[in-house]
Amino acid sequence: MSRPYEFEAIERKWQSRWLDSRAFEVTESDPRPKYYCLEMLPYPSGKIHMGHVRNYSIGDAVARFKRMRGFNVLHPIGWDALGLPAENAALKHGAHPEDWTRSNIAHMKQQLQRLGFSYAWEREIATCDPEYYRWNQWFFIQMWKKGLAYRKKASVNWCPTDRTVLANEQVIDGKCWRCDSQVIQKDLEQWFLRITSYADELLDGLDALPGWPATVLTLQRNWIGRSEGASVDFRLAEGEGSIRVFTTRIDTICGATFVVLAPEHPLAARFAETNPELRAYIEKARAQAREKRLAEEPGKTGIPTGRDAVNPFTSERVPIWVASYVLMDYGTGAVMAVPAHDERDFAFARAHGLPIRVVVQPPDASLESEEIDRAWPDYGTVVDSGPFTGLPSREALRAMTDHAEAQGFGKKAITYKLRDWGISRQRYWGTPIPMVHCDACGVVPVREEDLPVVLPRDVTITGKGESVLRENEAFIKTTCPGCSGPARRETDTMDTFVDSSWYFYRYTDPRCSEMPFRPSIAREWFPIDIYIGGVEHAILHLIYSRFWTKVMRDLGLVEVSEPIENQLSQGMVIKDGAAMSKSKGNTVEPEEVAGKYGVDTLRLYVLFEAPPEKEIDWTDARLEGPARFAQRVWRLVQNDLDAISSASPIEGQEEWNEAETALRRKTHQTILKVTRDIEDRFHLNTAIAAIMELVNALYKAIEPRPARSESWKAIREATEALLLLLSPFAPHLAEELWENLGHDQPNMSIGARGWPSHDPAIAAEDRLTLVVQVNGKLRGRLSIGADEDDETIKKRALEDENVKRFLEGKEIVRVVVVPKRLVNVVVLG
Ligand SMILES: [Zn+2]
Ligand SMILES: [Zn+2]
Repeated sequence: MSRPYEFEAIERKWQSRWLDSRAFEVTESDPRPKYYCLEMLPYPSGKIHMGHVRNYSIGDAVARFKRMRGFNVLHPIGWDALGLPAENAALKHGAHPEDWTRSNIAHMKQQLQRLGFSYAWEREIATCDPEYYRWNQWFFIQMWKKGLAYRKKASVNWCPTDRTVLANEQVIDGKCWRCDSQVIQKDLEQWFLRITSYADELLDGLDALPGWPATVLTLQRNWIGRSEGASVDFRLAEGEGSIRVFTTRIDTICGATFVVLAPEHPLAARFAETNPELRAYIEKARAQAREKRLAEEPGKTGIPTGRDAVNPFTSERVPIWVASYVLMDYGTGAVMAVPAHDERDFAFARAHGLPIRVVVQPPDASLESEEIDRAWPDYGTVVDSGPFTGLPSREALRAMTDHAEAQGFGKKAITYKLRDWGISRQRYWGTPIPMVHCDACGVVPVREEDLPVVLPRDVTITGKGESVLRENEAFIKTTCPGCSGPARRETDTMDTFVDSSWYFYRYTDPRCSEMPFRPSIAREWFPIDIYIGGVEHAILHLIYSRFWTKVMRDLGLVEVSEPIENQLSQGMVIKDGAAMSKSKGNTVEPEEVAGKYGVDTLRLYVLFEAPPEKEIDWTDARLEGPARFAQRVWRLVQNDLDAISSASPIEGQEEWNEAETALRRKTHQTILKVTRDIEDRFHLNTAIAAIMELVNALYKAIEPRPARSESWKAIREATEALLLLLSPFAPHLAEELWENLGHDQPNMSIGARGWPSHDPAIAAEDRLTLVVQVNGKLRGRLSIGADEDDETIKKRALEDENVKRFLEGKEIVRVVVVPKRLVNVVVLG
């Protein structure tokens, strides 16, 4: 009677062995080539969810595989530990944000260890440690010195009742999440990082990232949103001043029949001084959330200012409007409206009865200004545009830009959608911005030797008032680093995306106390070979990380310009058609599944159910498949443990019979397939499917029980390959069975073993013989491998000496391959 598969005991045994033997710790002084395998670090929300399990199971399979392939694998983990939820928990349960965070980390760490992930735990970091966030502050000061950090007024969501700033996620349908007051927009001085200085490099660098998914590259390109065009000034018809607009379609400018200003535009405020109706409109528009305004249908709201501007190309007066769909931080905050050739402008013109004038004709039609029922936005031939009439759009773009430049009212220009990164948060649980305000010196950075500026622990989170730190006199009062006079500390904290922009460098040197990390050590590990995380981080995190690396390069800290060589965006785990969430009640707890089926079965399920980048639609019943498979592997080894483990190794002199040859072929083919599936494409699901097939082949080889010793040699070879191939996916099961087979000496752990290699001669399918015909008559025979393609077969048929004699002086009309049977060459003459 073989022993039962007691997965929990087996898991615990191997997990503690891995921890005790420091199996996954690494150093830089290792002769093997490096491999940096990274998963996005979790936010310590309280527990590990199924999305985490999937993300880390993919990363763990890759890390374990690469170790067995002979790499020195850095596979670290840490905690993205600052941020709003800790403050919300403080409001709800009264726990201090730090205590809440630390206890969540402790619990989740233990969960990760119970899932058997092969992390270098000695390198664990938490971004809420002052030893970590002091370097956020140090970076901030370096950026300030280089002009990359600056202050300007920007609007925030403001609850007038609680007198507090609200994060976007705290505004629900335009109202405060706590007190239901109407949220307004308020301008505050805030800190920004000048990411736009790197806009061109961030864009161009995307072309050099072949290891990133196309979807992520496209999202980043659109986010940066570079467009080339012209800026043109429309002077005011009365009084001083002009309105600068940016356009990518200067060829349509003679069709500009009005100009629209953002409500925040300085001219709008000037016109409103004498126009109460306009003033009311502006105030209302500015109170709206930005997202709402962006999504707004153009034309829904808007108001004429009663003023005119002059179209510099036609010298005609055009009315100036203000409308909330135009945003101040897009382009110049003003647009020239060409309703005949822009859909948004068309909708606006229709809604407000503004003139529409066609100035570009399509190649095969003739549009009439009075009759068109929608805009025609494509290129064509310019009409009704004075000296530019008759030019194709592309030529007109150049000619009209040159004209504007020569006349001094316009020039070539490039704009970006990318905005500077606003990092100020009026929150407690974040990195304090290391600046002080002095009446004599202005804004001054804290001296670097005085870092970190530590978050005070003694605070009360009330959800009210301007900011938690602003209430804390002991924190605010300081002396000025410039003049030693009394000064006040900055009370804004940093966006937590700052923490995650460079954390993966800290893993390389996590206890360094003189600098963020030693450049000589980071150099050994960078770039990251594979970075695995959710596609929701395609912009923000993955752009900020690229920006931060470029800044660090320019500070001389790193040599790479791009931190990540290959990126894998894993699909979500959904259930009942929706993302798992507590509020929907459709979550599945990893601990429950692991308790019922075992960790290895859970890991096999999330890896086998779909390719990594596709969604998994969680189905409880489908756990049975991997559970049965794990049992099958267990029984396969246990039932014949003595016969398998006592079989002697293959010497090379054996005479194999047909069944043995077939099993050995399957073994070596499986090794090849699994290797390629993981290494080239991260197709972990097809790799597991191939391993399942090998298990089927092994059962076939064992039942009925073979008598020949050669058979047991082939079975042992196949079983050992099976366990090695399985170990990245189901490491506890593989380790236990490997030990049971007699590999129980120290350092014989399966993870310390090399990856098996396949012998191409054994993996090759039997050869086939094809007959070769010329005009239907047998002229030769061809021996081919089963995997040779038609083109190779045709080529070899035509090169056959015997066949060649019948082709001499003839014209070959075509060559037909009938798979596995024959090649027919049709000739003339
Ligand atoms: Zn409120
Ligand atoms: Zn001072």
